[in-house]
Amino acid sequence: MGRLIGAALAVVILVLAAFVGYRTATFTAPPPPAAVPIPNTGAYAIDASAAAQHLAQAVRFRTVSMTGAPTDDRGQFEQFQSWMQQTYPAFHAAARREAINGLGLLYTWAGSDPGQPPLLLLAHQDVVPVPDDTRTAWRVDPFGGVIQGGAVWGRGSIDDKGSLVALMEAANYLAAQGRHPKRTILFAFGFDEEIGGAGGAQQIAAELARRHTRAWFVLDEGMAAIARHPLTGGPASLIGISEKGFATMRVRAVGQPGHSSIPPRDTAVSLLSEAVTRIHNMPIQHSIEGGPALAMMRALAPNISLTNRMALANEWLFSPLLQQRLASSPTAQALLGTTVAPTMINGGVRPNVLPAEAVAMINFRVHPRDHVADLLAEARRAVADLHGVTVDWESPPLEASAVSSTTSSSYALIAALSHQILPRAPVAPGLVVGGTDSRSYASVAENVYRFQPVLFTDDDLETIHGVNEHLSVQNLDRMVRFYIGLMEAGAMQ
Ligand SMILES: [Zn+2]
Repeated sequence: MGRLIGAALAVVILVLAAFVGYRTATFTAPPPPAAVPIPNTGAYAIDASAAAQHLAQAVRFRTVSMTGAPTDDRGQFEQFQSWMQQTYPAFHAAARREAINGLGLLYTWAGSDPGQPPLLLLAHQDVVPVPDDTRTAWRVDPFGGVIQGGAVWGRGSIDDKGSLVALMEAANYLAAQGRHPKRTILFAFGFDEEIGGAGGAQQIAAELARRHTRAWFVLDEGMAAIARHPLTGGPASLIGISEKGFATMRVRAVGQPGHSSIPPRDTAVSLLSEAVTRIHNMPIQHSIEGGPALAMMRALAPNISLTNRMALANEWLFSPLLQQRLASSPTAQALLGTTVAPTMINGGVRPNVLPAEAVAMINFRVHPRDHVADLLAEARRAVADLHGVTVDWESPPLEASAVSSTTSSSYALIAALSHQILPRAPVAPGLVVGGTDSRSYASVAENVYRFQPVLFTDDDLETIHGVNEHLSVQNLDRMVRFYIGLMEAGAMQ
């Protein structure tokens, strides 16, 4: 009998091992769709130092997003726009330029075949401010437009004047050679991306919708190639196929006001603390399945160590182990699920006075598998027995964007060009944890991708919205080549 059980067990283990092995071996990306013909981007006669000079000039316009503050400087945007017209004359002669809602820019480079859905390329004109208390940490004047050590320095050199200038360089290069697109190419440049895009991207997208424009795909900033991917330790080109939603929850607790010498069992502050803790800890799914994470891991599989690949391919078996390892990484948590961050708390005016109310804010970054209505319902359930606690969205919540295809011809085109320009970086889809203008264009395009064809180190990434933002001339050169290639292969063949 014991022998029989032993034999049965051995069979089970063998079958299990075979299944785990099979899943590990087949844990890879589906083959790319029929290879896309792309031009040799290395053959373009690019003047990278002239492009760098142009980016440096662009940085000097202090196009800080206008928030209605007295320091707003609309003139900087107007000057920047006339600089664009002077600097890229061939493109401006070939394309139609329209102002949308004042400072929004929409360029139409009309194709000869109106039957082909257009290419829609995005960038934004505005930049985040440079806070006074960070000014001394900058190695150069953040609005000086300095070229030093092979890089263009300054606020916006990456985010997002780098993209805007590279797009203009690329389009002007082709236009100057007398090239004409078959497929229409649209360029949309908002002016308030850093504060939500309500005046720029949202208005341009609404105008395109009125014209019944349906783009082949949208390309915006949001992800790039990174030198060290946490999963492989090596470089990877990450194409953002979705971006997380953004929602801020207001938790309010009311209590009985009065003196604190004979307090009731609960005060507004104790109720609020309990509520915030419960919402912070409410169960939220973090998993490889059901989002861009799985597709990313499959695409990078050949570069992931065998043991890690085995675990990832068999989440059904190794889930507890994986959860334990991934829980310690905030980056992994952000990729695998909705994150919950209590960010503000306010209540009370004196140490010996019971406040009538206390209020906290909890910021959610919503994973594509979750919906804001469910999160709110879950939070309300978590605090249902706390008398005097109410939970609402502070402002209209934003769902995660739709997840774009990784098997489309447009994804294949972006991937092929990225691979040619950054051959050591395998291409994989990714999830953007921040927000970009591209979310506004979801309804006017078949797919939306977020990718800057540049290679960033961890240090480079910290400079975006931070101090010492700079873009290497090599990266600028990569961008210009990529965009020329994209326009040629995507719209001129
Ligand atoms: Zn940006």
